[in-house]
Amino acid sequence: MVLPIYIFGQPVLRKVAEDITPDYPQLKDLIGDMWETLAESEGIGLAAPQIGKPIRLVVIDLDVLADDMPEYKGFKQVYINAHIVEYDESNTDVSEEGCLSIPAIHEKVTRPTRIHVEWDDENFEHHDEWVEGYLARVMQHEFDHLDGKMFVDRISQLRKQLIKSKLRALTQGRFRCGYKTKVVRK
Ligand SMILES: [Zn+2]
Repeated sequence: MVLPIYIFGQPVLRKVAEDITPDYPQLKDLIGDMWETLAESEGIGLAAPQIGKPIRLVVIDLDVLADDMPEYKGFKQVYINAHIVEYDESNTDVSEEGCLSIPAIHEKVTRPTRIHVEWDDENFEHHDEWVEGYLARVMQHEFDHLDGKMFVDRISQLRKQLIKSKLRALTQGRFRCGYKTKVVRK
């Protein structure tokens, strides 16, 4: 089932999400719905707060980028109870980001290129790894959602000022996008 995506301004996007246990109700169905929602909205990552659930669950599909980044062919991963443990601040890069919860806004974001992350996979097997490259960026964007943060929090004050009215428009439902959304008021 395709779920509506919660848009900037929705309080759930600002909550720190909670870890879950394997007995979380209908977890498999929820993950299936998140994959469907991600495909429908043509995104590469979706965090549970973006569909209104304040839990530490993320799906990432980099396979859709495999034409440009063949190393990610077949890459589709579920991250449960994901946490960034450590940032390697010795190297950063700048790249343009967008977000399904912030339609039609794209801004350059500086992030470390290498991070230490812990998560459980779909079978609740624990993983503890250093990750780098494009995946590290996508993970930082998605895992930020689990801490109530969004990429617009990580841009300069000047850029933030410049997009202020566009962000306000989002909270008021004044935008267009090709997928189902949920706004604070319409
Ligand atoms: Zn996002």
